[in-house]
Amino acid sequence: MSKHQFNAEIGKVLNLVIHSIYTNKDIFIRELISNASDACDKFRYLSLGNEESPLEIKIKLDKNASKIIISDNGIGMNEEDLVENLGNIAYSGTQKFIEQMKNNTGHQQIGQFGVGFYSSFIVANNVIVYSTKYVENKEDQKTFVWSSDGENGFEVQEYEHILPRGTTIELTIKPEECDFIDKYRIRHIISTYSDHIAFPIKLTDENG
Ligand code: ADP
Ligand code: MG
Repeated sequence: MSKHQFNAEIGKVLNLVIHSIYTNKDIFIRELISNASDACDKFRYLSLGNEESPLEIKIKLDKNASKIIISDNGIGMNEEDLVENLGNIAYSGTQKFIEQMKNNTGHQQIGQFGVGFYSSFIVANNVIVYSTKYVENKEDQKTFVWSSDGENGFEVQEYEHILPRGTTIELTIKPEECDFIDKYRIRHIISTYSDHIAFPIKLTDENG
């Protein structure tokens, strides 16, 4: 297991993100969906459309456990990616990817600013990210877990199980924000902000 401090200004910036940049709390859903969509796009780009199973985004609500869980079967992140991409505010892995793909047209990426992921902490007091990065040889696939309370840095460790390719983000919702764990509310937020997403978004709760 490795423990990391957020980079220098992150605490302050996080506070700013949570309290002023995003005055509209709903947008955490939009940010996580757009990251999931970017990840699916990246995988599609690498697999040249030869993916075995359809690329999709799943959102699971669990009121009893106070959780909102967002997963995708996109490109995923390895240990290094988790530290680099989720440990540095305003460091955008997506920006880097765009730089690399500059000469390719017809490739759209939503994320560019490197603060979207942290909007999770607007509503969550704990965030766990499970991720399995795409590798050519499936036997080399490993799953890593990133976790943070948004205040005291983050931890990254290898997970005891190997999950399928992609990323699962588990938000433990603050007691005062528990009204978000509602299918109708989330569906409304999705249709307001994420209507343009090119991948199916499947929303379920305890009742299916
Ligand atoms: P941005 O989307 O503007 O780059 P974010 O803070 O939203 O910034 O995300 C930071 C980076 O973390 C992304 O650029 C991407 O590299 C990585 N990331 C976030 N969510 C996912 C995901 N679901 N799958 C793969 N990579 C992700
Ligand atoms: Mg983003």
